[in-house]
Amino acid sequence: MSQTKPGIATRCAHAGTRRAVPGGNAPFQPPIAQSTIFDLGTSADAEAVFSGERPGFAYSRFGNPTVELLAEAIAELEGGAGALITSSGNAAVLCAVTAALEGRTGPLVAHQDVYGGSFELLQILSTVCRIPVETVDSSDAGAWQAAVAKAGAVLLETPSNPLMRLIDLEATVVAARQAGASVIIDNTVATPFNQRPFAAGVDWIVHSTTKYLNGHSDMIGGCVVKREPLTAKNRCIHKNLGGTVNAFDAWLVLRGLRSFALRMEAHNRNGQTVAAWLGCHPAVAKVYYAGDPRHAQAVLFQRQMRHGGALLSFELKGGAEAAMRFIDRLRLVVHAVSLGGMESLATRPAMSSHRGMPPEVRQRAGVSDSLIRLSVGVETLEDILADLDQALTGD
Ligand code: PLP
Repeated sequence: MSQTKPGIATRCAHAGTRRAVPGGNAPFQPPIAQSTIFDLGTSADAEAVFSGERPGFAYSRFGNPTVELLAEAIAELEGGAGALITSSGNAAVLCAVTAALEGRTGPLVAHQDVYGGSFELLQILSTVCRIPVETVDSSDAGAWQAAVAKAGAVLLETPSNPLMRLIDLEATVVAARQAGASVIIDNTVATPFNQRPFAAGVDWIVHSTTKYLNGHSDMIGGCVVKREPLTAKNRCIHKNLGGTVNAFDAWLVLRGLRSFALRMEAHNRNGQTVAAWLGCHPAVAKVYYAGDPRHAQAVLFQRQMRHGGALLSFELKGGAEAAMRFIDRLRLVVHAVSLGGMESLATRPAMSSHRGMPPEVRQRAGVSDSLIRLSVGVETLEDILADLDQALTGD
């Protein structure tokens, strides 16, 4: 037997499995510890757990055995030293930003076209909590680097959702180090299958596990992964922000992870082909896809990503009315928000995920009213193409 690290599909298939339970054989699938509280034992036992002298559980908001297995599995998948599991992707962004800003005076720097929910969260942090937040156009590399070099923490998405713009991770990390700032990446769209941010020196990774990691469109969750070991303060922030996940949802993500690598292979294959096919369709004006060989940042893509993934956006020649007609004609592809499930989904970000952005900011970010976002699923490719074609041509 080879001593090399098992491949990603092997690690996913076995994540969190075969853990010993007292007095019995280990079940292959982990048990769901559906309990709020844990028997603390003697006063001395309780003291050992609360003081951190001995690992153990007290209350499921502080920690839970099933949730802990998921944290270990995701930390391992991303190559981080530890992970915290949250009740949503937005809760993960809040937790990471709070942890990364601890002890810093500089602003939180983000690009202006972050996911709509993150944009609204940053607005709340800025206007309600009075945390200095600066949003910058990341396509102006000079402005981005200058803002990062004065940051307290940096939050970025690459590729961005929905316009698939890339940000140079290595260059961002170098600039952030000048300011002593931590860099947080939302790796939801790229996934650890297609992009390895810790290799570029990024400090924190967040995910909406709702998307590709779970992959079944049946729960809401998130995670924060740290390259360095988690500190007691990090854990304190996580438990007191309160956005912890329940054991059953954590178990669902562990179940979803079993097929993660397989699903990503299929997503990548279908995403690449659908993007190329749309690019040649007479009704389509423009396609935004990270793995497009004609993408303006194709060189950066080659350096930073392994595959283009399965999220793309496109504009129709007929503008917003044609976009609405297209959505209304879809039969197989579901008109729904979200991404990363096995089923193909289409939506107009301006009326859904990015609705909370003021229209002028949306326009500046390039999210037009006619833009359609497609999360390409793992269905039979010919079926996806046939549905898109009939919706585009009206046949
Ligand atoms: N980050 C990205 C890139 C997303 O697309 C989303 C949701 O669509 C989120 C974060 C928020 O995730 P959740 O809906 O699980 O809170």
